[in-house]
Amino acid sequence: MNRRAQAGAARNRPKRSLGQNFLVDANLQRKIVAAALDGPVDPDEPVLEIGPGRGALTDRLACRDVRLYAVELDDALAAALTDRYADNPRVVVVHGDVLRVDLASLTGDWAATRVVGNVPYNIVVPIVFRLLAPPCPKEVVLTVQAEVADRMLAAPGSKTYGALSVGVALAARATRLFNVPRTAFRPVPRVDSAVIRLAPRSGFRPAPDDDESRDAVRALVRAAFSWRRKQMGTILTRHPDLRFDDDEARRALKSRSLPTRIRPEQVSPEDFAALAEALRPRPPAP
Ligand code: SAM
Repeated sequence: MNRRAQAGAARNRPKRSLGQNFLVDANLQRKIVAAALDGPVDPDEPVLEIGPGRGALTDRLACRDVRLYAVELDDALAAALTDRYADNPRVVVVHGDVLRVDLASLTGDWAATRVVGNVPYNIVVPIVFRLLAPPCPKEVVLTVQAEVADRMLAAPGSKTYGALSVGVALAARATRLFNVPRTAFRPVPRVDSAVIRLAPRSGFRPAPDDDESRDAVRALVRAAFSWRRKQMGTILTRHPDLRFDDDEARRALKSRSLPTRIRPEQVSPEDFAALAEALRPRPPAP
């Protein structure tokens, strides 16, 4: 191989740092696109693809009557896709980081946008939280590590239930659609994957639906699971990020019929939201 060919081969080698495991199973490619575009799809509906890579899903999405926006960070892959769709005005390739691109403005109608992606494993959680922070898209279908799917969908009381499960449950209805074995990718990753659907709720569940309320829930949940073996009574009053007054904490737990000895993994997402709301500092009465 001459030096130029060697440089080209190195450029095209999958980059582990960008989570490049390409989906080569045509059946699964079809299944994912069918899941992402299920139900009636209006012509011109916006679809955002995260990490199109070599176009495994992109080509199939582009065949459908949608306006497709594909955000790819890799220079060479973004350039190749831009060339490939140069004559198709319904496909817009954006060379950028999905965590930084202004997604809502990109597609024009964010609330109507369906999002699909076989997403880089190292940034699944920030992507999910970004997509589930209002304003939210219409629906999200993602291929993620099976273990992350388990944590996202875990119910209270299970070993995998944690801050991620609570955050997802409060912001979306989450469903596991099907599994994807590691052998469906090249290079073959070390873990299996699963395809999940997230249907964002209209509004974050705790009322009132505002930034402060969301921040309060997040702070409480993060603190609780950082002390997951301790009891909620102790966490609420002793955790350095919380330190609520003893009486207030007891009253808040009682208002949800929760014993002070309950541990975080037994507390439902709704109860976390209600506790955060009950413990929110109130302005002094006039
Ligand atoms: N969709 C393709 C497939 O199924 O074969 C590629 C999937 S691969 C797991 C993830 C893709 O996301 C890669 O093409 C990678 O370059 C891209 N990527 C990684 N980080 C990204 C980021 N922050 N923003 C956008 N794309 C990213």
